[in-house]
Amino acid sequence: MPSPHQILQSVFGYSTFNGPQEAIIAHVVAGGDAIVLMPTGGGKSICYQIPALVRPGVGVVVSPLIALMQDQVDALKELGVAAAFLNSSLTAAEAGQVERAALAGDLKLLYVAPERLLTPRFLDLLDTLAARAALGLFAIDEAHCVSQWGHDFRVEYLQLSVLAERFPDVPRVALTATADTMTRQEIRDRLHLNGAREFVASFDRPNIRYTIAEREDEHRQLRAFLAERKNEAGIVYCLSRKKVDATAAWLAKSGHRALPYHAGMDSAERRANQLRFLREDGVIMVATIAFGMGIDKPDVRFVVHLDLPKSIESYYQETGRAGRDGEHSDAWMLYGLSDVVQQRRMIDTGEAEEQYKRVSRGKLDALLGLCETPTCRRARLLNYFGEPQPADYRCGNCDNCLSPPETWDASEPVRMALSAIYRTGQRYGAAYLIEILRGNANATVKERGHEGLSVFGIGRALSDVQWRSLFRQLVALGWVEVDTEGYGTLRLTTEARPVLRGEIPAFLRRTAETTGAKRERKPRAELEGLAGGALALFERLKAWRRETAATDNVPAYVILHDRVLREIAVERPASIAALGRIAGIGENKLRRFGERLLALVNND
Ligand code: ADP
Ligand code: ZN
Repeated sequence: MPSPHQILQSVFGYSTFNGPQEAIIAHVVAGGDAIVLMPTGGGKSICYQIPALVRPGVGVVVSPLIALMQDQVDALKELGVAAAFLNSSLTAAEAGQVERAALAGDLKLLYVAPERLLTPRFLDLLDTLAARAALGLFAIDEAHCVSQWGHDFRVEYLQLSVLAERFPDVPRVALTATADTMTRQEIRDRLHLNGAREFVASFDRPNIRYTIAEREDEHRQLRAFLAERKNEAGIVYCLSRKKVDATAAWLAKSGHRALPYHAGMDSAERRANQLRFLREDGVIMVATIAFGMGIDKPDVRFVVHLDLPKSIESYYQETGRAGRDGEHSDAWMLYGLSDVVQQRRMIDTGEAEEQYKRVSRGKLDALLGLCETPTCRRARLLNYFGEPQPADYRCGNCDNCLSPPETWDASEPVRMALSAIYRTGQRYGAAYLIEILRGNANATVKERGHEGLSVFGIGRALSDVQWRSLFRQLVALGWVEVDTEGYGTLRLTTEARPVLRGEIPAFLRRTAETTGAKRERKPRAELEGLAGGALALFERLKAWRRETAATDNVPAYVILHDRVLREIAVERPASIAALGRIAGIGENKLRRFGERLLALVNND
């Protein structure tokens, strides 16, 4: 039997394991149970695929995502692995064929939907295999679906504990990208994985560049962002269905291949759009968070948030859909104080219990802290997820590291803002308070008699944008709270008192406008090492891949990943042997595509 490392090279075309992969594989090959926590893109799949290939018999993979099983199995077949799936999309005859193949020992990996696994028919099949010692392992993918507290809960997952009782000798691996301790414990309890060893990878996603900017002109900002990302696949998240539709239409009109996706759409249309996103190159999916779990597309190059998510967890999970292939990707978000007000209102007016609301408010505050931090965003994220970073940590791949915001002593304007809130009776939102501070004696101000206040017009020195930034930071710092019973009214907290009295200085981050800092950007191609001729070859390789994928009726990434094409374009391998040394080209791909790829390089 080849070793795991040999399989990594010959089948998958990679030379080294990442993070805990090697330890996990050794543990499972030896028959141990495992709980695997790894971020999206961390490389969970080979943690059960390689053990299944090494151990005798078939590895059974429970996956909740019927839509993706086909692609997963296609990808394995392209690697030369005997794989199949069983779910409701197959006819009875097709399913029978798969079952016979499993019994004949012709399969190494069998993907199955949880409801199918639990049928007496399938459990009988497993019994037969087990009696012949032909069950290699069970992998339970997206294991957080056992958690009743998460929105991915699947009731069938609870019954998967049957595997522990019925097949105590078959190793089980549960995998998830959800890291919190509560979910971890639920997986252990509900799947009866009491003795399982836990493997936790770092949740850092170094290839994702985090950028969080204040919303000025949403369309202009988005247009500028997308202008540098022509023909790249991405997701644009919006809070409401209405905004999804409007944004998708606007983008389509501006010449982008943009499609909408939300729960209010007809399900056939939704499926069709999802399929186009997965299969076609460079589609932008404009979506609500209904477009979520199991977007297994590895080459999503950016995730945009046009509205604030509800917590750091959501932000991390949603942005995590970018760059599973490890290639440079962007997480780009716009936000404003109105987002905070809106989210707060949704929490406050929701049906949930008070305790839940309190937790939700805390989570929103933490997210606002991330938005307003002048320090490294990645450090902030990792700290939040329990991976403490040194205070001076600089990741070099977030907006704050790339062009550090300046801070300034804003003690005086902060006092002005706080007293404006106080003098107007803590009854108004930021927009109105800014009118007062900037001395705009409009009809409403006059009607309320506010032009006579001592704070009226004392803040003319700062612009509208500067004041908005300042108010947001006051909320992020916890000196001011948003009261959402009404309309985003701002109120002072007790922490504001010493600031108002001048006992505590207020250092705030300067807005982009005040520093005039234009974020310098390298062109993407250069960033990826694709200068001149390499870029042209890369484009030709992509065109070839598009044709090949269409012929095989699989997504482009199933043929070869972007990273592989890029390396070919840069390295220009001159022989089959040289081509085989490129990461991601295993024996099967080399056999199938080797000559063609060399010809493309040579004709260049
Ligand atoms: P996950 O399921 O954790 O999101 P995948 O299993 O889909 O991640 O793997 C993400 C990407 O990383 C895939 O393109 C996979 O081929 C690649 N990958 C996995 N392990 C390695 C490795 N050891 N070396 C290089 N690439 C790897
Ligand atoms: Zn950073």
